[in-house]
Amino acid sequence: MSAAPAQENETVVPPRSRPEVLFPIFAPVTALKGVGPRIGKNIERLVGEQVVNLLWHMPSGLIDRRYSPALSDLEPGRVATLELTVNKHHPPPAANRRIPYRIDCSDETGEITLIYFHGRKDYLSKALPEGEVRLVSGTAELYDGRLQITHPDMVGGLDERESIMRVQPVYPLTEGLSQNVLGKAIAGALERAPDLPEWLDPAFLKERGWDSWHEALLAAHSPTEKTDLYGGTQARTRLAYDEVLASQLAISLVRSHVRRQPGCPTVGNGQLRSKVLTALPFMLTGSQEKAMEDIADDMSSEHRMLRLLQGDVGSGKTVVALMAMLTAVEAGRQAVLMAPTEILAQQHFATIAPLAEAAGVECVQLTGRDKGKSRTALLERLASGEVPLAVGTHALFQDDIAFRDLALAVVDEQHRFGVHQRMLLADKGNAVDVLLMTATPIPRTLMLAAYGDLDESQLRDKPAGRKKVVTTTASVDRLEDAIAGVRRQVESGGKVFWVCPLVEESETIDVAAATARYAALQQRFGERVGLVHGKMTGKEKDAVMARFAGSDKPSLDILVATTVIEVGVDVPDATVMVIEHAERFGLAQLHQLRGRIGRGSREATCLLLFGRETGKTARERLKVLRETDDGFEIAEQDLRLRGAGDVLGTRQSGLPEFRLVDLDAHAELLAIARDDARLIIERDPELKSARGNALRTLLYLFERDAAVRYARTG
Ligand code: ADP
Ligand code: MG
Repeated sequence: MSAAPAQENETVVPPRSRPEVLFPIFAPVTALKGVGPRIGKNIERLVGEQVVNLLWHMPSGLIDRRYSPALSDLEPGRVATLELTVNKHHPPPAANRRIPYRIDCSDETGEITLIYFHGRKDYLSKALPEGEVRLVSGTAELYDGRLQITHPDMVGGLDERESIMRVQPVYPLTEGLSQNVLGKAIAGALERAPDLPEWLDPAFLKERGWDSWHEALLAAHSPTEKTDLYGGTQARTRLAYDEVLASQLAISLVRSHVRRQPGCPTVGNGQLRSKVLTALPFMLTGSQEKAMEDIADDMSSEHRMLRLLQGDVGSGKTVVALMAMLTAVEAGRQAVLMAPTEILAQQHFATIAPLAEAAGVECVQLTGRDKGKSRTALLERLASGEVPLAVGTHALFQDDIAFRDLALAVVDEQHRFGVHQRMLLADKGNAVDVLLMTATPIPRTLMLAAYGDLDESQLRDKPAGRKKVVTTTASVDRLEDAIAGVRRQVESGGKVFWVCPLVEESETIDVAAATARYAALQQRFGERVGLVHGKMTGKEKDAVMARFAGSDKPSLDILVATTVIEVGVDVPDATVMVIEHAERFGLAQLHQLRGRIGRGSREATCLLLFGRETGKTARERLKVLRETDDGFEIAEQDLRLRGAGDVLGTRQSGLPEFRLVDLDAHAELLAIARDDARLIIERDPELKSARGNALRTLLYLFERDAAVRYARTG
């Protein structure tokens, strides 16, 4: 039994399912008391769909409601919780809504009035019935020498003293959620949080002096001092460590799964590569040559390759990828390149296919749009090995797709795919080598967080003849100047990208903003303006892009776009890029966008328009783009300016999303967690000891489920 190849064994074992102990916190947020569909939607928008996401939402402030003086001692301006007898309600006359609803209250030592603008009588008479005693928490003010509280924060019966008269955590909010509603939801989530078996090494736990996960969680949500609100507290550090450990363990499991599979060396004779190199109209840069060598070395070794090729937009990654693919073909094997979108897949195909053809090698394209007979025919040719190269989208790793002998998978903009998807592709062949490509440079500091120890090649020198894009920043008040500039460019034959603001996470709002700008520009420039956004189908987008690129008529001079143009997409004549509300983008993303222009022979400009409300720091941040054109430098600056937590928190960063890790406070944890994870896998690769079982729970807790299936099974 033990002699059976690991690969077969592992792929048939179904993923173990989520431990039952986690069920209460993996319920939808609407399972919580007081959370209906409407509030549920808002909570979802803020933190996520499941109760567990509320647990990760950490307080950013606190309100101390423990101050509870008699009215005669009350300091105005300080938050207090008062025990008051409700004396009399004074609803405003129905005719005048501007007069507030007033409620007179008192204790033995004095009087106070509660003020509600637009107060609802039914609600107020229930919450504060005349003649009864209530707890009222809020900030009192002196008005004409009399005490009053306008809109108390909390009102409740004496039996609610414990939940009112305490230090209340204050949470970051989103529209449609109040502190009270969110606070109650989080309290409800905490009540559901189970005790979990300890997954940390007992000696380590002791050395650190950390509490259990459950205790740490409760402590993190019950700050009593300002100093409890930072990432560096014992409680938050423990939680952050758990998250990093889950991530490192997941990476290590996948990695060791890959390593256990026997390698299959791919050695080419260089013939196809040299044919293509002679056909290229340019010389490779030094870093392209170096990257090619590294890749060829990896491919020819016994180990499976897992290498990241990092290079700024336009640094020439595609050629390097093609060389790797041709190495596979020279060895009589197959290679694929996978891109995250159809537009990108098409663009790669358009570059690669003719070059491959120059060496007499056929390359096909496969996307979600290929259907029916032609798709079937294509699949047959891949399965038989007749076609050695394919470029496509995730359609490439659907179940019915097989290769005769897949040696290499190149994955572009890899962060858009999950680890799991990448593994699916790698499973399509015999020990497939994987080359990941990204144009979002990842600062050294964060590499470890994202990938553990991954091999890496960087393309740092720019191809010869590349023009620096002139970048300027201006307030949106200068919109008219921008439009005048656009007109000059268009009249002299240039093309213009106009990128519209990113609003929240909502694509619908993005689209509305872009559509409005499109309409406004159309009024000025007529039919020469086009629009692409994320809600369009692939076909629709491609049609517009083709007209903008000039390959289809009638051609477009101005393209209004949401960030769908972020990666890839070559339009060599594009000379201008206007980005509205640039302050809402990450620097790395702006740099990516800017990389879309300045690819031809003409001088190119990028205009970053910032909104009126943009603060000084945010404007400073944009200055970095004016000053440098080096994506690596920009990534480092972005990290420095925004803090790692922020960079890590965004999807665009290309990094796993951490909820609890704040790299400013927790950087030291990364290396510890990596070593911890390695040791765990060395000692208990099947995660079947007591600690191993607890670690499985940890993986599920942080939704690294996909990795659990790579825990080796006996
Ligand atoms: P990336 O994928 O890294 O953004 P590409 O591979 O698409 O960049 O290359 C951008 C452009 O630069 C392409 O038109 C490509 O042909 C060209 N190019 C690549 N390498 C070189 C080089 N060494 N010298 C000149 N041009 C190059
Ligand atoms: Mg590219």
